[in-house]
Amino acid sequence: MQQPIVRDARIVIIGAGAAGLAAAHELSTHGLQPLVLEARKRLGGRIWTLHEPDLPAPVELGAEFVHGAAPEISGSRALSLDEMTGDTWHIRRGRRLRGDGVFHEEMEGRPLFRVSGGCSAIIEPLAHGIDVATGVPVCGIRWSPQGARVETLKGDCRAERVIVTVPLPLLRDPEAFPFDPELPVKRAAAAQLATAKALRITIRFREDFWSERMPDLFMLSGPGETMRSWWTTHPLHSTLLTGWACDRKAANLSALPGRTLLGRALESLGRCLGEPARELEPLVERYWSHDWQSDPYSRGAYSAVHGDGVEAAIELARPAGRALFFAGEATATGGRAATIDGALSSGRRAGRQLLESLSM
Ligand SMILES: Cc1cc2nc3c(=O)[nH]c(=O)nc-3n(C[C@H](O)[C@H](O)[C@H](O)COP(=O)(O)OP(=O)(O)OC[C@H]3O[C@@H](n4cnc5c(N)ncnc54)[C@H](O)[C@@H]3O)c2cc1C
Repeated sequence: MQQPIVRDARIVIIGAGAAGLAAAHELSTHGLQPLVLEARKRLGGRIWTLHEPDLPAPVELGAEFVHGAAPEISGSRALSLDEMTGDTWHIRRGRRLRGDGVFHEEMEGRPLFRVSGGCSAIIEPLAHGIDVATGVPVCGIRWSPQGARVETLKGDCRAERVIVTVPLPLLRDPEAFPFDPELPVKRAAAAQLATAKALRITIRFREDFWSERMPDLFMLSGPGETMRSWWTTHPLHSTLLTGWACDRKAANLSALPGRTLLGRALESLGRCLGEPARELEPLVERYWSHDWQSDPYSRGAYSAVHGDGVEAAIELARPAGRALFFAGEATATGGRAATIDGALSSGRRAGRQLLESLSM
């Protein structure tokens, strides 16, 4: 007989992004078999890698880079990292100036890496052998010290312990993700953190028209531009460029229909390169973008910490009673919030908290 996708389980994890799958992996290495409930029909959450057969590099719709040391990722024997070298160019008062060789993130001076094969390479090994039910949006949790009833659009299930990894905007909103009894301290902590907006578009051109003037281009940055950065797949040769907008500019671009978004992106790229957008348009073969802001399961890109935010993340990471545990990038501490590495470490931390609670 086929097993129902939503079934009672000793441990239920909500969300199959980096945090949820890292928690599941941590528990499975201790002989436990959690059930992961995922709203979307795919794994990875804000990691979404497309492998197009005719492209030399993967196309990322969400996270792409590993920032700095990132011990969860650099320490994994299953992953290999490529440091971003190549030239950075800056647009200053209409002039293009070459940067200093090896790319270091603006402001923070940290090196950047890409995961070989794309960020999906982080997700796949974690999900191996884990029982994940996809297409199952959770719509509420009734809980007590003895356990929880997880309500989903595909039926309810009971669990002794639940790990919640939904993104911050859902954790902040009692209508989108209700707890019964409610968790006012958790909600207040979530409200102290902001959610950053980001929009990226990857464009495949018919030719790498930039390479004559900037042969080893990795990153072109135009502060103040609609799309403030453009990057190539350097050192892999391709005809792909990815544009990046954040905050208010990302919010303005997010709701636009695809062709209009492409047009705005080309205007911005054209200004950076000193080429009219109408000359770039015939060179476009395809483009890819995802609106993370209106996606109901992310409602933005990643958490942003201001002032008291450090305390807020510590509060978010605290279990509620013996039944509820919390993970996700916004619950990561030590400056790792907003990143894949932070999401992974938070998932492992929630897994360990749960294991400890079982041995008490
Ligand atoms: C455009 C963009 C670019 C980024 N770039 C980088 C980068 O270069 N480097 C970097 O380190 N980080 C980057 N990030 C951030 C990084 O993607 C996240 O920090 C990380 O992937 C978050 O993992 P998570 O598991 O905490 O959350 P998520 O990946 O969001 O996982 C949460 C899961 O919960 C599911 N879910 C939500 N609601 C429900 C529900 N009601 N029921 C069931 N399931 C639900 C979601 O579908 C999702 O799968 C970027 C993010 C975006 C959006």
